[in-house]
Amino acid sequence: MNPLNAILDIVSPSWCVSCRRPVRREEKHLCAECLAKINYVTDACPVCSGEIVSGECEICSGRHIYFDKNISVAEYDDLIKALIAGYKFGARKRMASLIAALCFERAADVLENALCVTAVPSSGRKKWKRGFNQSEEIAKELARMGNRPYLNLLKEKESGRKQKSLGFTERFLNVLDKYELKKNAIQPCPVLIVDDVFTTGATLNECARVLKAGGFNPVFSLTVARAGIKRLEK
Ligand SMILES: [Zn+2]
Ligand SMILES: [Zn+2]
Repeated sequence: MNPLNAILDIVSPSWCVSCRRPVRREEKHLCAECLAKINYVTDACPVCSGEIVSGECEICSGRHIYFDKNISVAEYDDLIKALIAGYKFGARKRMASLIAALCFERAADVLENALCVTAVPSSGRKKWKRGFNQSEEIAKELARMGNRPYLNLLKEKESGRKQKSLGFTERFLNVLDKYELKKNAIQPCPVLIVDDVFTTGATLNECARVLKAGGFNPVFSLTVARAGIKRLEK
């Protein structure tokens, strides 16, 4: 064990973001037991990582999907919720490397085929409150691990309505025309775009549409978690 970490564990102990038990610094915010309990997404739609219900993907069917392949790493259960909340709202920027490491293995294929990595932009106000864009930090770590450049390719046009309060179809309409390519965006190339949670895929789909319109092709995407859309539809 790193002696500095051993001292830090004594003077400033840290806790597992999920079960609140003390963790050693080397465990990086999530204890080994919780780490082993992560529910990785399996048997998902090969295009969007959505849930397949009676042979059909609930996200893709009947919808124009602009990204070529999305990978959602884990189910958005209580454990991953705690992990993302601890990272995002606890303003623990350092957790980005732990989260990126959880995604890296699953992202290896698309990372290899993408020539750059970008992130879904967060609105200036949200970023200001938190001090960082959570998706951007994870994307930067993944880019570093995959030996690809990280580039800020997109920006938000204006503050639209919050996605959280909206239903499935409304979310797709609300994000239309919300993003644009940055003026200094580089020569188009295959790209991987990163976000934290995939709910309806509306935000990622719109970002992918803008990237494709700007010549970026293919557009791969990766989200840390996949939320069940049925729980949203009331
Ligand atoms: Zn734990
Ligand atoms: Zn699908």
